[in-house]
Amino acid sequence: MAVAGPAGCADLEELRDHIGDCHRCPLGSTCTRLVFGSGDPHARLMLIGEAPGKNEDLAGEPFVGAAGKLLDELLAGIGLRRSEVFIANMVKCRPPGNRDPELSEIETCAPFLSRQIEFIDPAVIATLGRFASHFVLRTTESITSLRGKVFEVDGRRVAPVFHPAAALYDTSKRSVLEDDFRLLREVIDRDEETITTGDALATHRAGVLLGRAAHPGDVIALSGGLGAGKTALVQGMAEGLGVVGHVPSPTFNILLVHPGDTRLYHFDLYRLERPEELVDIDFYETLESDGVSAIEWADRFPTELPADRLDVVIDVADESRRVLRLKATGPRSRRLARGWADAWRAAGAVTGS
Ligand code: SF4
Repeated sequence: MAVAGPAGCADLEELRDHIGDCHRCPLGSTCTRLVFGSGDPHARLMLIGEAPGKNEDLAGEPFVGAAGKLLDELLAGIGLRRSEVFIANMVKCRPPGNRDPELSEIETCAPFLSRQIEFIDPAVIATLGRFASHFVLRTTESITSLRGKVFEVDGRRVAPVFHPAAALYDTSKRSVLEDDFRLLREVIDRDEETITTGDALATHRAGVLLGRAAHPGDVIALSGGLGAGKTALVQGMAEGLGVVGHVPSPTFNILLVHPGDTRLYHFDLYRLERPEELVDIDFYETLESDGVSAIEWADRFPTELPADRLDVVIDVADESRRVLRLKATGPRSRRLARGWADAWRAAGAVTGS
């Protein structure tokens, strides 16, 4: 069924199909390849540049060549790979001779970018250079005065930075860009999700939603003091995963396996003394198998945990309030964190409920 416009597209793939071999503005007739954008479709950080240049036009990919290499270095400097972010441009086709895109071209192409932002739903947007900053922030202030600041637009943090190409011509801008990317890191880190629950029952209910949001292969690393509610959360997870029967604390067993619609591997590392003991319980193989793993006292062996996991730290704020701090460390866990937090919000769950 043909879709009427970008608003009728259900996801990024449909949007790309909808754009097709676009000639909605004159740039479609002069470019070699349309550059849609690339990266993690669920990225927390989205980078928006201006327009494809010569190399991008030939490759059909954003930010290749020297500016792309610099962008990769800046991302690596804050612990991110290109595959963990999404990169797109204001206009999808190269303006001839790398001229600035005209307002009419930007306006014609803008609905595609807006839809990309909606689908990716990033928590943080970095606007690279003047054009993207002006579009996203709806301002005409210079990039020099905008950079180094963080704005809030439609519930997202927006951090304008210089376009990486600027540092290729003026090397003094490299250190400014590095500062801006460090700020970006801080903004992303600040953007951890939190879920606030009340008593053990409310924590159990949060766990049910976590179990429903989880997929085989997901790893949830739990930490928090004695009585924080780690086991209550896992018991809720078990229910969400379709496990039937009682789920006790695995304190003395170290690992308990619960069959369900999705298998639950429930670890408790409290009694282990050395990381070598993890080998004896097939820790590493189990995490890579077909179930969902919940690890209590995961903070005992932080270096032994998989790279992509959802860290959940439970703080007992007071007797009737627990704050669950979610930190996703990769694309898989980011999807899980977002799915869980969204479900918790949609359920209208509140403190002490
Ligand atoms: S720049 Fe955008 S609107 Fe213009 S032809 Fe390319 S995709 Fe279409």
